[in-house]
Amino acid sequence: MKQILLLLENKANARLLQELLQEHYQVYHYQDEASLNLPFDLCVVDGLALKQRQSQLQMRRQSEEPILLPFLLLTSRPDVRMITDDLRLSVDEVIITPIEKMELRLRIEVLLRARRFSVELACSNQELEEFAYIISHDLQEPLRQIKIFTELLVKRYRNHLDEQADQLINYIIEGVTRTQNLISDLLTYSRVSGGELTLETTDLGAVLHQVLVDLSRLLEENQAMIRVDYLPILKANSSQMRQVLQNLITNAIKFRSPQPPLIQIEAIRNDQFWTISVQDNGIGIEPQYAEQIFVIFQRLHHQRVYPGTGIGLAICKKIVQRHGGRIWFESEPGQGSVFSFSLPASAEAPASGV
Ligand code: ADP
Repeated sequence: MKQILLLLENKANARLLQELLQEHYQVYHYQDEASLNLPFDLCVVDGLALKQRQSQLQMRRQSEEPILLPFLLLTSRPDVRMITDDLRLSVDEVIITPIEKMELRLRIEVLLRARRFSVELACSNQELEEFAYIISHDLQEPLRQIKIFTELLVKRYRNHLDEQADQLINYIIEGVTRTQNLISDLLTYSRVSGGELTLETTDLGAVLHQVLVDLSRLLEENQAMIRVDYLPILKANSSQMRQVLQNLITNAIKFRSPQPPLIQIEAIRNDQFWTISVQDNGIGIEPQYAEQIFVIFQRLHHQRVYPGTGIGLAICKKIVQRHGGRIWFESEPGQGSVFSFSLPASAEAPASGV
């Protein structure tokens, strides 16, 4: 039997809902904060309760992502406008009081169905990711062999083959090297997607500093100028944050214009999220590619013009989403791009030592 949590400040509505729902579902009433840690498949909340506990409720929803934990808001029409600006982040469906039994049942069933689909989708995604991991892993060995034997061929028959044969062998080595890079990136992507996400107190400023040290040679070679504002201390996975910043900064340099790269990194807090942005003065991106560039292996340029595998931004997107945020860009072609990602401020660590 599906479990429903009632979080209603209005006690008369709580009693009414109990009566209407107990025949079909296991119904619990919210007692204290611990009630939110119990397993449930749907929560019915009213405006007052939502307003009082919005951040706990959002955290509870996020804890189940990518599986949908539906929230149904019970409200009188005037209430709905007063509740919160971010209503769509907190609830999936609204029922206006007075409650109509049939309508309530139907909406609950639709939400429960959506939850079931999201469970199935998450399972099949996980299977696909595991499959991608195993395939990539197992492909490494035969590829390594092809490379070794081709190099041996070159060594042994260097002066016995003609120029055309040498050229063909070069193509083989190039192809194998590129496939090896793709596979190694795919493995990185699979690692980011799988397993449990461990969050620790992460000083994004310190993480960025390390990234800049690691990239110092690249920055020097390109005469890049970096400007950094304050970055927050958050609960996040440090090594994944490092990966995101490193990918964005490397791209800001790779897709540079003829002028020396100028990269500005800053963070802005707005209500429930920190937005961290990496701005460059590079070649920019046409707005129609807004979705495409975050898809695995999607690139806008030929390999010979800008080398790469097209996985860096897909990795960034996966990491940011797993942290409960999102990533996007704004750009004017020829003028530069700003890549931004948000992280929930609810995951912010105490500001010790800042
Ligand atoms: P890769 O860098 O290996 O091509 P990414 O996933 O990092 O893969 O980027 C995907 C595509 O997005 C790039 O091929 C490029 O066309 C575009 N892109 C990413 N970052 C920038 C940037 N800072 N400026 C311009 N284009 C960019």
